[in-house]
Amino acid sequence: SIPLGFFGGIGAASKQGILVKGGNYLEALNQVEIVVFDKTGTLTQGSFRVTEIRPAGGISEQELLETAAYAELHSNHPIADSIRAAYGGELDKSKVADYEEISGLGIRAAWNGATVLAGSAKLMRSEHVAFDGETAPGTVVHVAVDGRYAGRIVIADEIKADAAEAVRGLKALGIRRTVMLTGDVRSVGEAVGRTLGIDEVHAELLPEHKVGQIERLERSKSPKGKILFVGDGINDTPVLARADIGVAMGGLGSDAAIEAADVVIMTDEPSKLVTAIGIAKRTRRIVW
Ligand code: ADP
Ligand code: MG
Repeated sequence: SIPLGFFGGIGAASKQGILVKGGNYLEALNQVEIVVFDKTGTLTQGSFRVTEIRPAGGISEQELLETAAYAELHSNHPIADSIRAAYGGELDKSKVADYEEISGLGIRAAWNGATVLAGSAKLMRSEHVAFDGETAPGTVVHVAVDGRYAGRIVIADEIKADAAEAVRGLKALGIRRTVMLTGDVRSVGEAVGRTLGIDEVHAELLPEHKVGQIERLERSKSPKGKILFVGDGINDTPVLARADIGVAMGGLGSDAAIEAADVVIMTDEPSKLVTAIGIAKRTRRIVW
């Protein structure tokens, strides 16, 4: 039988908007040694603002934006939302004949009789699209039409108000190491990591690389220590499932992620991790 104290702990957590899916996870929260964060939508708001539109190959800014908006028409990635919002116009769903989301890289879509790619520099390289690799202060969405570079859209994300407090609070609770895993470029990942005081940053990762990083960390921790991963649930369900404790941000995340998670933070505030571990520690004192 489950000790009564666990129910108390689960109840206290739920009052704070934290859903803990069982007493065993409260116990595991007590033993967290390494906290691994996803970046986009977890430490940052994940609602991007378009800051720069740079067409290439003779098209206009508006044409580049329209092309990207159509490519992103069916994506639920926060990058897609921001590009559609920046375009602003009506998008005719029947015009996108074929569409594929390339997880952690971008989109391939058939629009206007052409194949459009929209995504990271890594996507452009893997599809052999030639482009100038100059860096930009933000996340860059490159666009190609039928294999020819059509330009880039730069978007800026903002760090969540409570993210720094979350990292500091975890350290104060004795968490040994904080790590950030991101599919975004190194320059953006490292800037966010530096701002927040995160110990270790790994960028330009595909979802399966994130799983590999969890496995690497597993080998580096002490035998009893647990690894906690917290993500927004957009394409990080495999990592959520692989970590000892998978935490999903419930507001932005997909149903699949909420299902795969052991703990759900309904308010999308990373500082709730500190609250959850604090409650787990107090629960332990009552139970044992
Ligand atoms: P994170 O790990 O920070 O949550 P993701 O794995 O969701 O980031 O995405 C990694 C990168 O892949 C993004 O920074 C972007 O360059 C590219 N990408 C992913 N999905 C899309 C999309 N729908 N449109 C354009 N680019 C995308
Ligand atoms: Mg993500």
